[in-house]
Amino acid sequence: KSVVHRICAGQVILDLSSAVKELVENSLDAGATAVEIVLKDFGEDSFQVIDNGSGISPNNFKVLALKHHTSKLADFPDLESLTTFGFRGEALSSLCALGNLSVETRTKNETVATHLTFDHSGLLVAEKKTARQVGTTVTVKKLFSNLPVRSKEFSRNIRKEYGKLVSLLNAYALIAKGVRFVCTNTTGKNVRSVVLKTQGSNSLKDNIITVLGMNTFSCLEPLTICISDGCKVDGFISRPGQGSGRNLGDRQYLFVNGRPVDMPKISKLVNELYKESAILQALREGLQQTYSPSNVSYSVNKVEKPDGKEDCIELGSSHRKSLII
Ligand code: ADP
Ligand code: MG
Repeated sequence: KSVVHRICAGQVILDLSSAVKELVENSLDAGATAVEIVLKDFGEDSFQVIDNGSGISPNNFKVLALKHHTSKLADFPDLESLTTFGFRGEALSSLCALGNLSVETRTKNETVATHLTFDHSGLLVAEKKTARQVGTTVTVKKLFSNLPVRSKEFSRNIRKEYGKLVSLLNAYALIAKGVRFVCTNTTGKNVRSVVLKTQGSNSLKDNIITVLGMNTFSCLEPLTICISDGCKVDGFISRPGQGSGRNLGDRQYLFVNGRPVDMPKISKLVNELYKESAILQALREGLQQTYSPSNVSYSVNKVEKPDGKEDCIELGSSHRKSLII
């Protein structure tokens, strides 16, 4: 099968947070050290991602939003070895189809920026010069407006979608070291609120304190899950309170190779163990115990710290590959 067929599968833009996620990933891929997310009416009216990354060179303008255009994929072996997420060339084309896309960009080789407008099929329909620093601004207005059913649903669920987005942005702000994040939301009659603002610290500790607060920081433990095929999931876990049995729920952040990811199975596993305080108990005591969340049984063993820094627990089950947490 061709590259195109293999990368076709799966829909990229499912909701507000996956739309913004793609844009933030693009900014990070472009080497941005400052990323600003500007929302109007919680993203329902429009959202904008502004970065100080490399910018887009003029010879890419026409093809930018065409399906499967990507500057990040040379040939197929590359795709298999890729560890980041921006490589499918589908985000901008999907966003064109689902909303009104415009891009303002400038590389260091240009003295002025260019404002680009695309139609729903991804064709470049207008191009004009404008003033801007080096970097890129992508604006999407009226996401889903041309899909009546989805648009209604989007409208109805906007607060929930917004909540999910804020949680995602928090995750980026936690993990993306040296990148400043700002997110603002403007509602109704120009009431603008700052949702998130970080200094782009290189220290995870500082990021946690900025994003989640000192109180939360003081009850977090680092946690690393190394899946046996070499994939590493980084996260944090808060110490269970007096009564265990709480669920980490939405406040669970998972990262792969420094990028936030949604991994429901791992979240569920962590939640189940967390409810039984298994992870933290094992961290503290290095005990060998067997837990039975749902109908799967896991054995938790304390193992050698790989680099002397992080606590490790080996987690084996009869049903799945063993994990090291
Ligand atoms: P992909 O990220 O998978 O390559 P996208 O549709 O997300 O595909 O983006 C298409 C192309 O547009 C990228 O390969 C990149 O060259 C360019 N691009 C998009 N956003 C930015 C940005 N913020 N800064 C620089 N280049 C960008
Ligand atoms: Mg991308």
